[in-house]
Amino acid sequence: MAGSKFAYVKKFELPDTLLPSTFMVLRLDGHSFHRFSDQHGFVKPNDLRALQLMDHAAKSLMEEYKDIGLAFGESDEYSFLLRKSTALYNRRQAKIVSTLTSLFTSCYVFHWPKYFPDVPLQYPPSFDGRIVLYPSQREVRDYFAWRQADTHINNLYNTAFWALVQQGGKTTTEAHAILRGTVSKDKHEILFSGFEINYDKIDSRYRKGSVFVRVETTPEEPADELSTNTDTASARPVVSEESHRKEEKKKKKVATQIELLHCDIIRDEFWDKYAHLMRD
Ligand code: ATP
Ligand code: ATP
Ligand code: MG
Ligand code: MG
Ligand code: MG
Ligand code: MG
Ligand code: MG
Repeated sequence: MAGSKFAYVKKFELPDTLLPSTFMVLRLDGHSFHRFSDQHGFVKPNDLRALQLMDHAAKSLMEEYKDIGLAFGESDEYSFLLRKSTALYNRRQAKIVSTLTSLFTSCYVFHWPKYFPDVPLQYPPSFDGRIVLYPSQREVRDYFAWRQADTHINNLYNTAFWALVQQGGKTTTEAHAILRGTVSKDKHEILFSGFEINYDKIDSRYRKGSVFVRVETTPEEPADELSTNTDTASARPVVSEESHRKEEKKKKKVATQIELLHCDIIRDEFWDKYAHLMRD
């Protein structure tokens, strides 16, 4: 490539290729959403519309990027697990982080009016993004367990806090003071004896967060197709063999489905059921 005499500046760009054969987790988080949620009148402790909008943006990302097999969302954040072997943008970090964060943000804004028909956007929201690499399944599981444990801790606190304020007539300062130093059991007790709220009966969407899993809906190929019958194989013209394979590949790519769950992702059950998420 000839280029101008100025083209040498391109060489100052540093490569930022991410380590191969490593799980990638992309986490996005709303920038200053404490303020954003205030200014847009989010219901406390959990605004359902806002959570559903986050879910919508996350699903759009998974529809666009097939290498994302799993996503977990709570509050103003979402984490996405990319396949270990993903070759997305040749694994260039800045390219992946910026493109996916940008798409998520524009989906959030694009779909805003569907979820908040009566609340005009006051200003353009933004999200930060980062990628963390994890070498093995252990860390990936612990990562998602860490986020879901965080959901639990925050939601229990916020539920107790807003019960004290909204139903108990406490000021926010008083509510913070009451909850200071309490353990999980105390908060359950405050909710139950003070407000007849059984925390465990609260919608699992709030207690567990949102889990999107990509499930493969392609039926397994019949086993005998693998033990090639040489007669029929040689009888089939080379071209159609090739296009047949392409056709199959295309079908395989299309035949996945994205499911929204609000389930536990800390225990083995989830990972046993969706073991394919950890495959290459
Ligand atoms: P991408 O956008 O695919 O992530 P990029 O930003 O490097 O990669 P482009 O946006 O397509 O590539 O190109 C930016 C500009 O830089 C273009 O005008 C392109 O011709 C020029 N360019 C790209 N690579 C080189 C290079 N190695 N030497 C000189 N100019 C280049
Ligand atoms: P930062 O820019 O550092 O992320 P932040 O203000 O966004 O700052 P977070 O720790 O990310 O801080 O917390 C997000 C805040 O947004 C929550 O504390 C909560 O007040 C608010 N929020 C986000 N989603 C919802 C929701 N669905 N319902 C109610 N409040 C929400
Ligand atoms: Mg933060
Ligand atoms: Mg935030
Ligand atoms: Mg956050
Ligand atoms: Mg470009
Ligand atoms: Mg360009």
